[in-house]
Amino acid sequence: MGLILYKNEPYLDWSDLANVEAMRAALHEVSSHLGESYPLVIGGKRVETEDEIVSVNPANPSQVVGRVAAASEREADMALETATKAFESWSRTVPEARARVLLRAAAIMRRRKFEMLAWEVHEGGKPWAEADAQFAEAIDFLEYYAREMLRLKDGVEIYSVPGEESRYFYQPMGVGVIIAPWNFPTAILTGMSSAAIVAGNTIILKPSEFTSVLGAKTMEIFEEAGAPEGIVNFLPGYGSEIGDHLVKDARTRFISFTGSMKTGLRINELAASQIENQRWVKRVITEMGGKDAMIIDDSADLDAAAADIVASAYGYAGQKCSAASRAILHSDVHDEVLQKVVEKARALKIGVPESPDVNMGPVISEPQFEKVMSYIRLGKNEGERLLGDDPGDPERGYFVPPTLFEVKPDARVAREEIFGPVLSVIEARDFDDALRIANDNPYGLTGGVYSKNRDHLELARHELNAGNVYFNRKITGALVGVQPFGGFGMSGTDSKAGGPDYLPLHMLAKTVVERF
Ligand code: NAD
Repeated sequence: MGLILYKNEPYLDWSDLANVEAMRAALHEVSSHLGESYPLVIGGKRVETEDEIVSVNPANPSQVVGRVAAASEREADMALETATKAFESWSRTVPEARARVLLRAAAIMRRRKFEMLAWEVHEGGKPWAEADAQFAEAIDFLEYYAREMLRLKDGVEIYSVPGEESRYFYQPMGVGVIIAPWNFPTAILTGMSSAAIVAGNTIILKPSEFTSVLGAKTMEIFEEAGAPEGIVNFLPGYGSEIGDHLVKDARTRFISFTGSMKTGLRINELAASQIENQRWVKRVITEMGGKDAMIIDDSADLDAAAADIVASAYGYAGQKCSAASRAILHSDVHDEVLQKVVEKARALKIGVPESPDVNMGPVISEPQFEKVMSYIRLGKNEGERLLGDDPGDPERGYFVPPTLFEVKPDARVAREEIFGPVLSVIEARDFDDALRIANDNPYGLTGGVYSKNRDHLELARHELNAGNVYFNRKITGALVGVQPFGGFGMSGTDSKAGGPDYLPLHMLAKTVVERF
């Protein structure tokens, strides 16, 4: 297949009025479709369910974005059966044909971009630029994994001994259960799904209950792209109701999960026990939470550091697994950086993300609002709140203002994942102390260092315990193919989505040796 070289999808330029107008028109158009219903899709057939998920706008919870069918164990069984049957033909479909489905999905996503961004604003509470970045990532995953499959389709070179030929190639695995979070509702769902299907597997696609309409839209795109019936089976539902069932079933070959540590570890545990008729050790790809730190050294460019702390901590209201939730400041620059961070964070515009100039919208849901607020109450006892007012009535939107606590490293707000706009600032004696504090945490997803000291950067390159380390820039916004993404420690299995090792996780490697 002759494909142009991979390159990342460019972000929209919001200073271009044509883009602003197109986005306004899409928001208007999408608002006339709010409240519509979406069934399950199993083997290409629409399946209604008794229960439904009522998905609401987090910036205005009285507005229903859509009503999405909620699967029970019965429909989960139907989906597993369908995916198992469909695997027989899809696993034998040539890789080029599988890759074309992804490339077509990417083209459709480009054509439907503004519409999809408008759904993200309504259902995910995403400001425009955040919505655009995560949608560009979805397109990137499709383009990148299509090319990765073409690179790997004939296997990789190994050595042979004289008189024999040794070959090493990949085969599809089977039925995969894809379980996604709400915070990158199209990107992560598309990335995990497309990698699985292009590798020749069939899947059950379970979006988060908080962004199931975006899940349904993503499913529409896979169908429009020509994924044959039964390859992608859309199974929205509550994780607590169908999750265990899908994970435990003997037909499930692998689980690809992104979400919280608690859920990921449960999946890992359940998948590990063998049940009757199970003929394989299930593979679990699990990418989980973070408590990501940015270290600011005494030699750093302090203005740039403060700006990037604010961008990393408060972008999408801190609801990125890569978000900076700890700023560890060298004592010599501590006061100055802190003052700059507070100043810049105060300048952020918080509000309903339908407006183009909003920097930070709501948190995703009432439970998330309650969780963040309980940490804010805790933080007030553990340290000093230097930024953040009490929020308004959650019934009028789940808005939490940017909040900053000055705390000691052992404070719970500085140790546990909050997943909201709450930053803990910690003072360090020197660079070694900062590195020690950063590493003293079970998570290990992203981390960053701002420094001009070459020795310190080289030390952190190897010693900072995180799967994704960034120097002198923000620590969020991983780019597919450029910054493969995955965590160390309790942040996950380090699968490195968007990188060269990702597709083989979805395949079985086979060695065949023939003596001549
Ligand atoms: P979550 O764990 O609550 O839910 C994730 C998914 O798991 C949802 O689809 C949910 O329905 C499902 N689920 C719930 N219980 C289940 C069960 N028993 N069995 C199977 N599935 C079940 O996480 P969330 O709140 O949706 O997402 C936020 C979390 O995701 C944060 O911890 C964040 O750090 C993490 N995250 C990590 C990455 C990464 O790449 N490491 C990326 C994005 C988000």
